[in-house]
Amino acid sequence: MSSISLQSQLPRTYRIKAIKQETEMVRTYTFDGSLGAKPGQFVMVWLPGVDENPMSVAYDDGAETKITFFAVGDMSEELARRGVGDLVGLRGPFGTHYDWKSGQHIVLVAGGYGAAPMYFLAKESVGHGCTIEVIVGARGKEHLLYLEELESLPHVALHVATNDGSAGYKGFNTEILEKLLAQCPLDSHDAKKGKCAPVDQVFSCGPEMMLKRVMEISAAAGVPCQLSMERYMKCGFGLCGNCVMDPSGIRMCVEGPVITGEVAATLGEFGKYHRDELGKKKDFEKK
Ligand SMILES: Cc1cc2nc3c(=O)[nH]c(=O)nc-3n(C[C@H](O)[C@H](O)[C@H](O)COP(=O)(O)OP(=O)(O)OC[C@H]3O[C@@H](n4cnc5c(N)ncnc54)[C@H](O)[C@@H]3O)c2cc1C
Repeated sequence: MSSISLQSQLPRTYRIKAIKQETEMVRTYTFDGSLGAKPGQFVMVWLPGVDENPMSVAYDDGAETKITFFAVGDMSEELARRGVGDLVGLRGPFGTHYDWKSGQHIVLVAGGYGAAPMYFLAKESVGHGCTIEVIVGARGKEHLLYLEELESLPHVALHVATNDGSAGYKGFNTEILEKLLAQCPLDSHDAKKGKCAPVDQVFSCGPEMMLKRVMEISAAAGVPCQLSMERYMKCGFGLCGNCVMDPSGIRMCVEGPVITGEVAATLGEFGKYHRDELGKKKDFEKK
């Protein structure tokens, strides 16, 4: 049985209050109303007669809720045709959220629309006295998201990586993570003498191959990490079983999407394959 309230399981309609065109294919919708979401949680976005898809909460301040999405397929392209004042169905919030302690030194690694929940997390955690380093990565400059918002936050240092070198570091954002974790290793002389501040946790949201690398780099440095894992979701609250991961069968909509690196390391399919809407295995493309 699900412990999620019936209220969250049923869609409610919310009015689009504002729209921001982030890039050619990415939009942010601000909805009039809060779902009480925490950073890392997701909502099921419903367009009657079209489809219902999971999307991360990009922001929830108790008064309004934001989502940031790519218009890439049937449902998301239809969603992108909506305008200010239109109604959209939302259910949730669902799933686990990122966990931090006051005053921690945290590194956030964001790829694609993962920059949106990472911004939500940065904003909440700096409010708890945390010091944040955010690494935002994209194929090229034109695909980078949430830079202005992240730069405007206090106690946040922003690092940018692009594959083509059109902005920031030329290469993967995970290469910057490796360098940041090497600056003040936990067991180093400087860390023990308090001359530098070791990283307490790494949080990440983005493409699965990136998450896998984040897990490996963090584990090698002995730093705990939390990752947002995506699987095909239908009900959103643990009944249908579509989003289970091999071999343990944990449900990404209930025990995830945010899981620790330790749990991720036990999931044999992580970085290898996922299942489609019929449960059929699909390999991730090797890049
Ligand atoms: C926890 C979670 C959070 C997500 N957050 C965001 C977000 O913040 N912004 C964003 O743009 N996208 C997000 N997605 C992806 C989003 O749910 C859809 O995959 C995407 O909008 C494309 O769907 P489509 O129907 O338009 O495209 P389609 O062409 O129909 O599908 C394209 C691909 O999207 C995936 N997909 C489609 N439906 C689902 C579904 N119900 N559950 C999971 N994957 C699906 C499948 O891999 C499919 O092959 C998230 C997914 C998950 C699981």
